[in-house]
Amino acid sequence: MNNLSNHYRFIIVGGGSGGISAAARLKKKFGANSFSANSIALIEPSENHYYQPLWTLVGGGVVKKEITQKPMKCLIPNGVTWIKDSVIELMPESNSLKVSDSKTFTYDYLILSPGLKVDFEKIKGLSETLGKNGVCSIYDYHQCEKTFEILNSVKSGKALFTVPPMPVKCAGAPQKIMYLAEELFRDNGVREKTEVHFYSNSPAIFGVPLFSKALEKVAARKNIQTHFLQKLVEIKAEQKIAVFEKVSPPPVPVAPGCAPVSLPTDPHLGEKTEVKFDVLHVVPPNSPPDFIAKSSLAWTDGAQKGWLEVDQYTLQCHKFKNVFGLGDVLGTPNAKTGAAIRKQVPLLIENLASVIEGKPLTNKYDGYSSCPLITSKHTVMLAEFGYDGKILPSFPLDPTKERYVYWLLKRYLLPKIYWWGMLKGLL
Ligand SMILES: Cc1cc2nc3c(=O)[nH]c(=O)nc-3n(C[C@H](O)[C@H](O)[C@H](O)COP(=O)(O)OP(=O)(O)OC[C@H]3O[C@@H](n4cnc5c(N)ncnc54)[C@H](O)[C@@H]3O)c2cc1C
Repeated sequence: MNNLSNHYRFIIVGGGSGGISAAARLKKKFGANSFSANSIALIEPSENHYYQPLWTLVGGGVVKKEITQKPMKCLIPNGVTWIKDSVIELMPESNSLKVSDSKTFTYDYLILSPGLKVDFEKIKGLSETLGKNGVCSIYDYHQCEKTFEILNSVKSGKALFTVPPMPVKCAGAPQKIMYLAEELFRDNGVREKTEVHFYSNSPAIFGVPLFSKALEKVAARKNIQTHFLQKLVEIKAEQKIAVFEKVSPPPVPVAPGCAPVSLPTDPHLGEKTEVKFDVLHVVPPNSPPDFIAKSSLAWTDGAQKGWLEVDQYTLQCHKFKNVFGLGDVLGTPNAKTGAAIRKQVPLLIENLASVIEGKPLTNKYDGYSSCPLITSKHTVMLAEFGYDGKILPSFPLDPTKERYVYWLLKRYLLPKIYWWGMLKGLL
């Protein structure tokens, strides 16, 4: 018999974009009447919740960081029990999990949405110098305002913007901040004396060819020099040197049963290049949370090794049918964004209801994701796509065109949709 105070019908792990939206939808779905103290628990260690998509605009000096943060207690729906702790171990065989104070909780159904780990430690020399010596990053709440200070202080020299190996949450953000910085350098009258360089671990400027082609033109128009298959491995802060390693392109996907395509080996593979910088914007590698990677719920090999193993359409775990996942933690081939979560949550809750009722799971996620690609302080190219790079536009307009109306959407409307619609389970 379960100890009732440690048992919940539903447990949600993570109070970010996915967890809070799921809590709101779950409460709506199962109705206020059937709501009891032991219905839903949300496990989340942080006092605050962050709207990360605006961190790019904080780094660009457009908004203040405070508007991206709200107290967690104001967002967790009434009636949902907040367990203010971190999960350290999953034991799905016994429908239980352990939190950091060693307490164990049991559940009937589990939703995992703990996001991902932004791994500053994975680049030698980065943690020690972040926020100093011209090194900055918008991938942290406490660093995004510092990023603007650093970019705004540039007088001349070399500005480098890096992209780590995929997956990266909002893979467009590394270049959005670059376009805002380039505009800032022009506004400050220092652009002529400042070179702008884009260094990416990927073979192209963006993962979807249609948008990649359009963005190459944006970079060329802005006189930005691009360098591909270059991985940032070390920062020598005192000397202001970034060390890049030449990497190989990701394997070409082949149809099942076909022989893998073998490409000629690049003679420069593994070669290290030292690049002197005046300002360096770093996007660190993104990794799965440790308690997911070491659990029996993670993929054990392949490109998604360590990320949560779910069916990419139903979001149900392969091994345990009472466990679902959503958001950045997923080992699925969609782009990791809040926009993806807005599509995932409603269908996940419907599928969970089907499991409870013993019905087949009919709601399928198409991999939808959206990246409002900021190209200046008043233009955005709205990239919307799904699995296999399928273009999924919401509006009947050329999606590769930079538009002011999409800037208004990104700057003003999407934050409102997020706080007042998505997190309340309405949109
Ligand atoms: C600079 C930047 C720009 C972005 N731009 C965009 C954009 O323009 N459009 C867009 O759609 N998306 C964008 N994103 C991505 C978007 O913010 C994320 O995809 C989204 O927040 C992921 O939601 P999540 O719930 O999976 O994770 P998160 O929102 O990160 O939340 C995870 C939560 O889990 C908690 N947690 C972690 N570990 C544990 C544990 N062990 N136990 C319990 N709780 C735990 C954390 O404290 C956190 O509150 C951007 C992100 C960044 C950083």
